[in-house]
Amino acid sequence: MAFRATGTRALRHQASLWCSASSLSATLRRGFFSRLVNTLIFAEHEEGLVKNSSVRAIEAAGAISKENSISVLLAGTGPDLEKAASHAASAHPLVSQVLVADSDMFLHPVAETCAELVKLVHQMGSYSYIIAASNSFGKNLIPRAAALLDVSPITDVIEVPEPRIFVRPIYAGNALCTVKYTGTDPCMLTIRSTSFPLSTLESRTEASPISQVDISTLKEAALGRSRWLSLTSQDTERPDLGNARIVVTGGRGLKSAENFKLLDKLANKLGAAVGATRAAVDGGFVPNELQVGQTGKVVAPELYLAFGVSGAIQHLAGMRDSKVIVAVNKDADAPVFQVADYGLVADLFQVLPELLEKLPEKK
Ligand SMILES: Cc1cc2nc3c(=O)[nH]c(=O)nc-3n(C[C@H](O)[C@H](O)[C@H](O)COP(=O)(O)OP(=O)(O)OC[C@H]3O[C@@H](n4cnc5c(N)ncnc54)[C@H](O)[C@@H]3O)c2cc1C
Repeated sequence: MAFRATGTRALRHQASLWCSASSLSATLRRGFFSRLVNTLIFAEHEEGLVKNSSVRAIEAAGAISKENSISVLLAGTGPDLEKAASHAASAHPLVSQVLVADSDMFLHPVAETCAELVKLVHQMGSYSYIIAASNSFGKNLIPRAAALLDVSPITDVIEVPEPRIFVRPIYAGNALCTVKYTGTDPCMLTIRSTSFPLSTLESRTEASPISQVDISTLKEAALGRSRWLSLTSQDTERPDLGNARIVVTGGRGLKSAENFKLLDKLANKLGAAVGATRAAVDGGFVPNELQVGQTGKVVAPELYLAFGVSGAIQHLAGMRDSKVIVAVNKDADAPVFQVADYGLVADLFQVLPELLEKLPEKK
């Protein structure tokens, strides 16, 4: 039995955000920079490459203004940082400079230390916007840096209709809120990278300049109360869940960690990332870094396959923007069918082995 969802449009409503702090100098500066917009992107990098989510943050800055002068800030140390800086310098045509904070204290970046770095760099450059991707690091960093700079951050931005006007989801993605930022500079944002696909702008022929940030004044303030202890992560060849083109998700219906391996096999064949509901994570089937939803990752792949997922509102909040949603559930009334483009009312333990048999191996 197949379903075609009617598709629900999120309610859009207006709201305004006022910042309590405002000063004459900041107002004058804002007036002065109204034509000349300059933005600082805090970019994450891995193995010598700027992460895709950070490149999309640059894209979001381009949506604010095409006249935007964009500085990309990278923190780290060693050869990987050097490679990432070269990548950043030619990653996007809108980047005008790359700022590098090279120190052992950024070997494993900690949000508290990076927030102090953002404050320092803003004091040097007086940015009108400071942006990071809305992932676990960006969500940890931007509110801290905003507190240090005494401004209110705007999180999870999905659209920039006008400079200083932003659209962001609220109520677990059931409504969209249009927010006007009337505070002082800098206007600090986290952006949902899935909402800012990379444009087809031609890649730059000439790399932008790379300069070192003088962090000599940072050490004392930053090496404070938090320190990096260890990283636990899945060692997998699969694409990153946040950026994957295809996501295969399992819910409580999978019943066990052993059964979840069926989804691993399917993901391997499709070149997909594996996701999970909170019930599957709480059941110990998979680690919590795979959780999709309001309190997990937000994904918007081209294809989202959900097996044994009921479609609770908190789960939908993390995947409803996927281009094509396919759901397999044995309960015809499961709410997931309301958002699914294609639905199959069936036992996943019959469907999955059949799919695995029919799909060719990934080349
Ligand atoms: C504050 C808060 C935040 C939350 N954040 C998240 C979040 O980020 N992400 C998230 O996912 N949840 C989140 N939740 C939990 C959420 O409310 C749901 O409990 C959860 O999403 C349910 O997961 P599920 O669909 O796997 O399980 P269930 O709701 O139990 O659904 C299991 C489904 O599997 C189907 N099924 C069972 N066996 C089979 C079979 N053999 N074949 C086919 N179908 C089968 C059933 O019909 C059922 O529809 C949050 C809850 C709260 C209160």
